[in-house]
Amino acid sequence: MGGGAPIAVQSMTNTDTRDVEKTITQINELYQAGCEIIRVAVPDADAVDALVDIKKKIKIPLVADVHFDHRLALQAIKNGADGIRINPGNISVPEIRTIIKAAKAREIVIRLGVNSGSLQKDVAEKYGGPTAEALVESALRNITVFAEEGFDALKLSLKSSDVPTMIEAYRQIAARTDYPLHLGVTESGTAVDAAVKSALGIGTLLYEGIGDTIRVSVTGSPLLEIPIAYAILRSLKIRMIGPEIVSCPTCGRCEINLLALTEKIQKEISGLRDYFKVALMGCVVNGPGEAADADIGIAGGKGSGMLFKKGKVVRKVREQDFVPVLLAEIKTMLEEKKED
Ligand code: SF4
Repeated sequence: MGGGAPIAVQSMTNTDTRDVEKTITQINELYQAGCEIIRVAVPDADAVDALVDIKKKIKIPLVADVHFDHRLALQAIKNGADGIRINPGNISVPEIRTIIKAAKAREIVIRLGVNSGSLQKDVAEKYGGPTAEALVESALRNITVFAEEGFDALKLSLKSSDVPTMIEAYRQIAARTDYPLHLGVTESGTAVDAAVKSALGIGTLLYEGIGDTIRVSVTGSPLLEIPIAYAILRSLKIRMIGPEIVSCPTCGRCEINLLALTEKIQKEISGLRDYFKVALMGCVVNGPGEAADADIGIAGGKGSGMLFKKGKVVRKVREQDFVPVLLAEIKTMLEEKKED
């Protein structure tokens, strides 16, 4: 994390952490989908106890999210958490110092997660609310404590549900510290809003070279977060991972059911990790040209379509065969790539 490592994709479980089986199942589903760091809420002693068993059955780093009670953070560190997320608005400085000492002894990471919804009272009053400057001051104030304790394994986040505030806060903190930054737009809504806000907030910062880990927050299944996160990384050409589907919006020239085709292909290939580009175009007028840089594609005709590879026509395919033909061709293409 940080220092030129690939931008890591994080998520957070929405199961009751005390329900060990459900939490493990969700973490492993997220891992299969491409999640690389997982955070779980640790609201009480039972949740912190659950970390021991959860840790044994998962393959990705586990971050314990602790608010209010620093003793839970200390116990989470003992119970094997790979990282702790604390919010300086909810834990006092002397308590943060005890957490730092324990984390240092086990050589684990702490994320100092400043959040617009829970700023320290005096900082919020000074700035008249959770402005970008207020978020930055809250972070800087606490960074000093970490520096005094000689603790380097620190990651920062300055999340706001307001996209311009979040962008500005991260820009300001990036100009003033070298600590790795975890990016996110908090409380960003259900899938469409979350995708748009995250693409704008996280995407703008990544494009400027700011950020080391990201999380797309979605109200709903956290499994929705991962494809959005990877779509952001792919769109900016930061990490070419997972399939990219290019599909046209259709118009009066389209004579195939492009939406059904796109949805079926999307569903079938969504779990793949290899990067490749599939173009699904409604017609042959613009389709082949627009799909020229895709690894594979279909340009629809009347009840049929042209199969393309790297911009070259391969053969004509009947509409009812689009899905099996494309899936078989993708499978072959990925096998050939592996053999290279
Ligand atoms: S590819 Fe063809 S069907 Fe799709 S939007 Fe362009 S012209 Fe219309």
